[in-house]
Amino acid sequence: MNDAQQILQSVFGYESFRDPQDAIIQTVIDGGDALVLMPTGGGKSLCYQIPALVRHGCGVVISPLIALMQDQVSAMRQLGVRASYLNSTLDAAEARAVERDLLSGELDLLYIAPERLTQERCLALFEQADIALFAIDEAHCVSQWGHDFRADYLQLSLLHERFPAIPRIALTATADARTRKEIILRLDLAEARQFIAGFDRPNIRYRIALKTNPRSQLLRFLQDEHPQDAGIVYCLSRKKTEEIALWLQQQGFNALPYHAGLPPALRATHQARFLREEGVIVVATIAFGMGIDKPDVRFVAHLDMPKTVESYYQETGRAGRDGEPADAWMIYGLQDVIKLRQMMATSDGSEEHKRAEQHRLNAMLGLCEITSCRRESLLSYFGDTLAQPCGNCDTCLEPVDTWDGTEAARKALSVVYRTGQRFGVNHLIEVLRGADNDKIRQFEHHTLSTYGVGKELDNTQWRSVFRQLVARGYLSVDLAQFGALRLEEKCRPLLRGEQGIELRRDAAGKVARQQTKTALPADIDVGLWEALRECRRQLAEEQGVPPYVIFHDRSLKEMCVIVPRTPLEFGHITGVGQRKLDKYGSAFLRVINDYL
Ligand code: ADP
Ligand code: ZN
Repeated sequence: MNDAQQILQSVFGYESFRDPQDAIIQTVIDGGDALVLMPTGGGKSLCYQIPALVRHGCGVVISPLIALMQDQVSAMRQLGVRASYLNSTLDAAEARAVERDLLSGELDLLYIAPERLTQERCLALFEQADIALFAIDEAHCVSQWGHDFRADYLQLSLLHERFPAIPRIALTATADARTRKEIILRLDLAEARQFIAGFDRPNIRYRIALKTNPRSQLLRFLQDEHPQDAGIVYCLSRKKTEEIALWLQQQGFNALPYHAGLPPALRATHQARFLREEGVIVVATIAFGMGIDKPDVRFVAHLDMPKTVESYYQETGRAGRDGEPADAWMIYGLQDVIKLRQMMATSDGSEEHKRAEQHRLNAMLGLCEITSCRRESLLSYFGDTLAQPCGNCDTCLEPVDTWDGTEAARKALSVVYRTGQRFGVNHLIEVLRGADNDKIRQFEHHTLSTYGVGKELDNTQWRSVFRQLVARGYLSVDLAQFGALRLEEKCRPLLRGEQGIELRRDAAGKVARQQTKTALPADIDVGLWEALRECRRQLAEEQGVPPYVIFHDRSLKEMCVIVPRTPLEFGHITGVGQRKLDKYGSAFLRVINDYL
């Protein structure tokens, strides 16, 4: 057995590498550079942690996320790895102690912020030390186009100049080709081997449903499926995150708001509670996310539609990093489409930029409206393919009904035309349904040929027709007049009767449910599970670390199924390496024995 494999088992307590971890690790152990693109939860950390242990000297991990370093270091120390960090939260004496450990060869891993690393003093320190490798985490931060750009990351090319003999491994979960090119260029990684892992996250169940009554839909989802789970609820506006968090608290959930407008100290507290306590829900804008390294986020719920498929994938990707079942749940409706289209058209930026944004929004809408497998569509967006429909998204689990919407679409388009392309969807529906009100009389819309021709569909069904026509680009939203719908070139063949259209039949507010109430499989004894969780919680509290740093849920579940009775048996549980066996074996074995 080689060193890497041996460390995987004895330190981390894992059986085997995931593809392509072993190839990456071998490359770095052999002194080569690597660029790693792997989805969130794919297992990037092992790719530098193991080479750092195998190679001589200390592995230096550059990470933009100071707030998370402490937990990363705690998790490593739990495994018996000699880890520390250098960042602005340490005082001078503490920092000096870490530097001494580094120089005397007593560190396996050192986490450091980029702005510190690039100081001359620090570079000089590293030149005296024995460095095993440089790992550049969240490498997409070098990209000036992405929203995580960090100017300090641009300086990191100097690593190659100052330390040409030390292997570098850059890691990111951001998929697109442009970012990849930028990373290679700016970090001077032209010689690096590239490893691109598949982007599929099979344990995440994607579900997108029609927004009817957002609060009660969310409540039902949480009560039925995640009554005690940790999760993230994304909203578009800061105000809304606060309102929803407050409302969830009133419903008995442990919910906290998070957005860029909150005082930094409060933000930090909320993030820390999310990481350290169990079952906390964060209601957040997109400001919450990067590097939320929490493995047991059981759901990500979107109350508003993200602007791009990239954002959707990144945000939903925060669920289920531990590989256990997790939900990506979203509701969306016509208002989302109208709002986002308007935000885009009024944003600054060149026409070209706006066109690109519209294009990306269209892809997102396409994902919402498709009637085939969501995962297939998501992966194909990132240039990946799936051999067959996934069986773990709403459209696979409950195939969508479609109907021939040609007649309805034609009526909808013609009422837009006849009313002069100046009205919003509510009024248009009133005209179609032959309503009698002031506005209709004022504009004499009761005299139109389309007046009252749409009584066969109700209000909700008409909204569905209009939404799909907007989403698919037959209609656009006029900015000059709030929410007014206009015809697009694309609708001509449809209006002329040369083309038909299949529409999605919306299942009113229904979203395919998970079979089980919680993520617990049926063969697990809930009593034992709770007892083990309590043991984990106490240990975590004593040491001031998040519970998952002691053991992941997966390890606890395995304990429930295998029910180990001896240290030897306990050592075979996933995530139990030598150190954790020594440290926690007896406590958990006692819980198991007492329970039986
Ligand atoms: P990433 O940084 O890519 O988002 P992590 O490195 O945090 O992902 O790994 C995600 C989860 O998968 C962690 O809980 C980690 O311990 C686990 N993991 C990684 N590699 C393996 C493996 N070979 N076998 C079992 N679990 C693994
Ligand atoms: Zn599917």
